[in-house]
Amino acid sequence: MENTLVIFKPATIQRGILGEVISRLEKKGIWLVGIKMVWFNDELLDLHYAHIKDKAFFPQLKEAMSISPVVVSCWKGVDAVETVRAVAGATNCRSALPGTIRGDFGMSIQRNIVHTSDSKESAEIELKRFFKDEEIFDYKLNNHEYIYAFDEI
Ligand code: ADP
Repeated sequence: MENTLVIFKPATIQRGILGEVISRLEKKGIWLVGIKMVWFNDELLDLHYAHIKDKAFFPQLKEAMSISPVVVSCWKGVDAVETVRAVAGATNCRSALPGTIRGDFGMSIQRNIVHTSDSKESAEIELKRFFKDEEIFDYKLNNHEYIYAFDEI
C-alpha cells in the first residue's frame, strides 16, 4: 500500500465539478485518507512547482493556482501513485484519453483539473508539505476485500 497526493485545482472547485472528480477516484477503489482546503501562497507555489519555475508559463500557472483555494487530499492503495496518474490522464486535457479525469473534464494544459504526485519519492515529500502525520488517517474501508484479492494487499 502507498499514499499519494491529489490536489483539486481552483478551476475544479470554481466549476463545481469537485464532487464528480473525487467520485472517479472513489469508484476506482482508491481510498481517501486525508483531505482539507488550502490557499496556495507564493512561497508554497515556488516550492511545489520548483521543477518548472523556469518555464515561460510559470507566472500564469502561479496566478491560476492561487486565484481561489484548492483541496488537497491523500489517497491510499496498492500502487496508488501510478494508478492515480493513470486515472488523472495526460497533462494536456485536450490529448488526455477519454475516461480519464483530464480527458473527460478539461480542455486546458494549465487548468488541468488535478495535480497528482509523479513518483513515490515526490508523494512522500508533497504529502509532508500539506499534511501533519495526524491528518492522514489509518483506517480500512469495509469493502476492501471486494476491491482487492487477499494476496494483493
Ligand atoms: P503534471 O501535473 O501532469 O505532473 P508537470 O509537473 O509537467 O505536469 O507540470 C505541472 C503543471 O504545470 C501542470 O499540471 C500544468 O498545470 C502546468 N503545465 C505543464 N505544462 C504546461 C504548458 N506547456 N503550458 C501551460 N501550463 C503547463
